[in-house]
Amino acid sequence: MVELERFFCEELERWQTAADNYKNLEKIITDRVDCGEYEIRLQFNPARIVSTGAKIDSNSIKERKCFLCEANRVPEQHHIPWCARSSNHNYQICVNPFPIFKRHFTVADAQHVPQLIEGRVADLLELAFDFNGYTAFYNGPKSGASALDHAHFQLIPRGEMPIEEDSRNRTIFKDEQDGEVFRAEEYLRAATLFKSGSLERVIELFKKEITEYTLYDGDSEVRMNLIAWYENQQYNLIFMPRSEHRPKEFFLDDPDRIMFSPGAVDMGGLIIAPRPTDFEKYKSAELLKKLYTQVSPTTL
Ligand SMILES: [Zn+2]
Repeated sequence: MVELERFFCEELERWQTAADNYKNLEKIITDRVDCGEYEIRLQFNPARIVSTGAKIDSNSIKERKCFLCEANRVPEQHHIPWCARSSNHNYQICVNPFPIFKRHFTVADAQHVPQLIEGRVADLLELAFDFNGYTAFYNGPKSGASALDHAHFQLIPRGEMPIEEDSRNRTIFKDEQDGEVFRAEEYLRAATLFKSGSLERVIELFKKEITEYTLYDGDSEVRMNLIAWYENQQYNLIFMPRSEHRPKEFFLDDPDRIMFSPGAVDMGGLIIAPRPTDFEKYKSAELLKKLYTQVSPTTL
């Protein structure tokens, strides 16, 4: 933790672009949409156009240099190593130069291997355990990841996504199984929380859950976002199954276009709007319902 904070400060001292982008976060515009039992937060963040508008078709991915590979990083970007204990996977923790939060790290596998969760759920939970005070998350392919050819997680400060607080609200997250499985109801998007002091138990519950979902044609895994944190001696893992990556409005021409391209953060209740027009539109709870229901398999 201390090490991560020190690394962050050092990195910003020697990397002007990152320093400028974190500085710009201080004047970012935010808003809230009241949805009754919970709220959706909005963030107007022009620098995130890189991620929101990312081309993720296989040709575009092949043609670009992978920005998560060490060999392709700018010289100013350094990393600290982190090794997952049970899998022995080696990761490199880097400062994300296009932040959403005042601390925002990318945790990339040291190898250029595809973004798949199989064999890595324990890594995600261990990451959350090791960096207590942070929340770790995973965006699956076609579920918000802009690099689907390189395995990675992200690490952000605890409690920034509304879903973390919402998951403690038992009128939203109903106890379904012995205080270990909680399922969200009337929440615009499907979400299940697994909670246990045992890492193995959380993995067991997660694996059982995903057998309920069928793969989309051409996909290698169930579409999902995962959010994990460790507190009060318990692992918390939120599983958010996905249907579409982007709603139909994403593909319309302006002025009807809405650049809603949600990953874990947006699904977690903090929508990042790189364009002012979208930021304004998101203030409608009715529109949010329309957008979320296209990208989540939930029925309300
Ligand atoms: Zn790579």
